[in-house]
Amino acid sequence: MNNRKKMLLTILMMLFLIFLSGIFIQQRIVNMLNKAAEHSVARQTEDLSMLAGERFRRFLTPLQTAATHLSEHEEDKDDMLKMLVQQNPQGQAGLIDFQHHTRGRSVSSKSFPRLQLAFHGNTVIDYNPDIGILLATPVSYGDNVRYVLYQIYPISMLPQLFALSDYDAFTHVIIQYHDGTLAVPYENYTTEDTRFWADETIQSGMREVHSRLERNKAAAVYTEGAEGKYFVFGADLPQTDFSLIGYMPWSAVAGQIMSIYQRVFFLFALMLILFACLSIYLLMAQTSVAETEELRQARLAADAANLAKSQFLANMSHEIRTPLNAISGMNEMILRQQVPGEVRQYANNIKSATTALLTIINEILDFSKIESGHMEIVDTDYQLTNVLREVCTLVGVRAQAKSLLFKIHVDPYLPNGLYGDAGRLRQILINLLNNAIKYTPSGSITLDISGQRKENTLYLQAAVTDTGIGIREEDKDRLFHVFERLDIKRNCQIEGTGLGLAITYRLLNMMHGSIKVDSTYGEGSVFTIELPQEVHSFDPVGVFSLSAQPDLDKVLEHQASFIAPDAQVLIVDDNEMNCFVASSLLKETQVQTVIAHSGAETMEALQKQRFHVVLLDYMMPGMDGVETLHKAKELPNIGSTRFIALTATAISGSREKFLMEGFDNYLSKPMTGDDLTNMLLRYLPQELIQHPLPAPAAAPIAAPSPAKTAEQASTTVAPPAPPLIDYKLGLTYCNNMQAVYDKILAMFNKQSSDKIAQLDNDLAAANWKDYRINIHALKSTALTIGCRSLNQKAKDQEQAVKDYLAETAPPDQQQQAMDYIQQHHANVMDLYRQVAELAGSPAQTG
Ligand code: ADP
Repeated sequence: MNNRKKMLLTILMMLFLIFLSGIFIQQRIVNMLNKAAEHSVARQTEDLSMLAGERFRRFLTPLQTAATHLSEHEEDKDDMLKMLVQQNPQGQAGLIDFQHHTRGRSVSSKSFPRLQLAFHGNTVIDYNPDIGILLATPVSYGDNVRYVLYQIYPISMLPQLFALSDYDAFTHVIIQYHDGTLAVPYENYTTEDTRFWADETIQSGMREVHSRLERNKAAAVYTEGAEGKYFVFGADLPQTDFSLIGYMPWSAVAGQIMSIYQRVFFLFALMLILFACLSIYLLMAQTSVAETEELRQARLAADAANLAKSQFLANMSHEIRTPLNAISGMNEMILRQQVPGEVRQYANNIKSATTALLTIINEILDFSKIESGHMEIVDTDYQLTNVLREVCTLVGVRAQAKSLLFKIHVDPYLPNGLYGDAGRLRQILINLLNNAIKYTPSGSITLDISGQRKENTLYLQAAVTDTGIGIREEDKDRLFHVFERLDIKRNCQIEGTGLGLAITYRLLNMMHGSIKVDSTYGEGSVFTIELPQEVHSFDPVGVFSLSAQPDLDKVLEHQASFIAPDAQVLIVDDNEMNCFVASSLLKETQVQTVIAHSGAETMEALQKQRFHVVLLDYMMPGMDGVETLHKAKELPNIGSTRFIALTATAISGSREKFLMEGFDNYLSKPMTGDDLTNMLLRYLPQELIQHPLPAPAAAPIAAPSPAKTAEQASTTVAPPAPPLIDYKLGLTYCNNMQAVYDKILAMFNKQSSDKIAQLDNDLAAANWKDYRINIHALKSTALTIGCRSLNQKAKDQEQAVKDYLAETAPPDQQQQAMDYIQQHHANVMDLYRQVAELAGSPAQTG
């Protein structure tokens, strides 16, 4: 039984008890009130008996006065008798002497035995049921009684003379003789009344009255029977053989009782109402407590479910990320090799796909983060073109598979170096483009990228237009609702969850952006987003080309930012492939790597030798990463070893968790070679780090001298003397639009003298910050027009400036970098001039 039922039962029982006790109390009160009423009626009866006595005295007084007169004037006997009759015409007066000689109304002591007592000096009242009432008083002469003066009131006159009917309308009083005979009935006494008095209940009441009269002057008893509710009462009439009995209906007395009774009833009802209110309140409180409890339980269940979901997502993400790590690592290794162009193309596609897959995994996690309010917007520097390429590569394949024309228009003058959450932007664009593809059976999809710049903010606009099924006007409001899918009848074949737009909408909100939809049902839709992004580099995007992969035909040039041949790194991962990937990616840094596949092997390795950095997989069978770390930390001489967690789980709060556990940092799988080397650069002892200078064409085995590097660079770039500008390449960057390409070449030519002057000035003024920005711009514009050699030289130069500006660079390396910049500047500028000149001659481009 639940608490609510228990509570209800308790309240019902309480109500029942209150009801029972109410009845009991009511009974008690009624009894008490009746007792009180009996007392009050008894007192009234006493008054009545006094009244009755008074009646008799009223008739006795003239008799006694006459007797007094006669005792002095014996001769006035007849006059007195006459006078008495005059005064009380109903009473027949008479005088009797010892010899029983009577004068006036005759009388005999037989009829009235108490008459004798009058001869003994007593005033007497006697009754004869056949004759009536006799009032007699002695007439004394000296000490002797000579006569008795009396008056007889006949039976018929008694009620009129002695009845107490004028007492009140409800009280019926009878005067009884001591033998129980009815002496003076009340007026209108009928056989009905005889029957009433004969009723057993009344009789027993009267018996009780008489028994009480033995102790009291007057008594009253409450009776309740067939005749109804009554008080019967009685009292002896003093100095007579008469007594008074009577009754009054209970209701006549109940006037007072009722008012008390009503008050008690009212109080009791009030108590009941209060109790009912209290019960309802308690019940509600109990219900609300129960509900709160239910809610608490539900919340606990929801929390548990949410935890399970997070756990599931984390596990799933781990399961997918682990093989993905291997795929992307292996792929990176392929891209670092000299492989045929076709293979390189495939590898590049794998790279795009793994990036996209990783994004999708992250999106799944994102949804749970948005739901739980843990979504974070992480702003970083990014290149708009990179994001667009990634998006378009992924989406392009899908569009192609559906035979849809995919058109991309990117405003070439948009600044390329933006600051914002590139991952989220990519996610939003992919979502809108995927929807466009999904809901367009035939025709085209167009992505228009434009924007308005206000000071340092670019209000980036992306419009995705399709020629698809369109959206009905009435459905537009529901577009951004979670799990809402529209036009289900038509779309039931299309896969979807109804989450994409909801996530997009929320993400845009979080990034202060907006989204709007224009659609004509049956014709197509346009989804337009606007997103404010900070501009960090005003380099223009240039002519955007989907097919143009800048380094597509070139070995992925990967030069280690440092080497550390003496560094000892322990790689721990239960997955053999992951160990291989990590050690392969680290090869270029020449660090010494040892591999362990479990916590136990890790402990063994750590006991054997000292490591500068341990890359420790977080999730391992047996001893996991955390346990291994804790154990390892107990080893002697471990203080200087840095521990980096390798995790495939990247849910919100991971970083804090790892730091709290005692890791120095963490790397999220799949990690790139750069991620790994940057992490090592940060945690390896500085004295072990050697910074090689950029060596574009040679594998950086050891730090080469600047002179040698320059030589290598020039030989790599010059022979076998490829054309200075690769027009084919330039055209592809312009989506094969000749007019656009010509315009770009002209612009390049036109700007060159100013740019060269700027760079010369920056060099002369040692303004390395601006120099770096300008040479960086030259690097990308050179490639955009199709000049790889200038692009490469500018890139080398930029790297040298970066090395020079690097805070961690030791002075001798800074000097090397500076020498490199100085030596190569003129060279680069010369090349720039040559290329600009060539670009300025339109004949070349045909
Ligand atoms: P999903 O596509 O997974 O169903 P979304 O949240 O991305 O979920 O979209 C919600 C609904 O909006 C879709 O089910 C579809 O009915 C409608 N919709 C979205 N994009 C388009 C579009 N480009 N053309 C027509 N309908 C669309």
